[in-house]
Amino acid sequence: MGLDIGCSCGATYISCSYSGFNTWRTELAKYVKIDLTKMNGFGKVAIPWTKKERFYYLLYHSDCDGHLNYRQCRKLLHDFDWLHQKLRNPTTKEFWHYLLQPVPEDWFLEYFDMWYDAVKHSVSNQCWLQFH
Ligand SMILES: [Zn+2]
Repeated sequence: MGLDIGCSCGATYISCSYSGFNTWRTELAKYVKIDLTKMNGFGKVAIPWTKKERFYYLLYHSDCDGHLNYRQCRKLLHDFDWLHQKLRNPTTKEFWHYLLQPVPEDWFLEYFDMWYDAVKHSVSNQCWLQFH
């Protein structure tokens, strides 16, 4: 049992465990100053989402069903581009200040690249990413 993300055209595919995905996006959220464990849908504190958070569509998404359409992926792509640039050029102290670990580990970057590619594909081909 795990999380499978297939594209509506069949071209892109991500397969991982639910726990792996949730660990990864909890880390991803830290890069945009969000403690996912306190957000609505995740924790008891249940801080409401504004929907303007970076990576909102991915962070708030169900981990077992539903889909991301290419319009949502276009917004996500903007955030992936933004973080991609920061991760490769970690020059601003302000950015690294709130991270638990200053340098992202390989497994984080592996997931990051998988998602980045999937989101880029969705935008380029106007496909839907389906969670199941
Ligand atoms: Zn596709």
